[in-house]
Amino acid sequence: MAEPSQLGELEPIQTDRVTDFDPRRVDAKQLQIITDHVSGIIDALGLDRTDPNLVGTDQRVAEMYLEMFDGIRSGAEPHVTTFPNEENYEHMVMERDIPFYSMCSHHFVPFYGHAHMAYVPGERIIGLSKFSRVLEFYAKRPQLQERLTEQVVNFLVAKLAPKGVMVVIEARHLCVEMRGVKKPGALTVTSAIRGQFHKRALREEFLDLLKR
Ligand code: ZN
Repeated sequence: MAEPSQLGELEPIQTDRVTDFDPRRVDAKQLQIITDHVSGIIDALGLDRTDPNLVGTDQRVAEMYLEMFDGIRSGAEPHVTTFPNEENYEHMVMERDIPFYSMCSHHFVPFYGHAHMAYVPGERIIGLSKFSRVLEFYAKRPQLQERLTEQVVNFLVAKLAPKGVMVVIEARHLCVEMRGVKKPGALTVTSAIRGQFHKRALREEFLDLLKR
């Protein structure tokens, strides 16, 4: 595997879609194990097996889990092509309102929302589409919003060595809205910063750009 600094010379176009779910990559044995367990849940709930709507549900749920948890499959990590910062751009690059869907580790129900991501380049820059690739890679697994935020930031730091990174994630958690305390519409906001974003002025610039 090439070092990040050499990736600019490799084929950038094909690697862009590497985390897209491909049903042909599903591990048949793993699929069968999950199918059997979901079938056990259907039986434990005492559901009517003659209901035509339950036919194949066990396998559909298993396939769906493997799709939603595709980020933990070996080889799922996105190849992030970086480019030299030839313009010596030294201000913030921001991508806002990037949608994502993830699954809460505690309840296996969705949490979903938007991420706002920014970095101040060092010697390398990345294509903006990579922000959503990285987000998706870490979202497609049983996850905590706090951990998702940190993992995205850490990935960008490791691959880009930027002068600063800031990520804000706003999400709705169905485990909060559908059950338990039942707070429909409540937004959970998390943020993580590195480097120059410790400076208040840069954080405020980020937040100003968010308000527009
Ligand atoms: Zn939960």
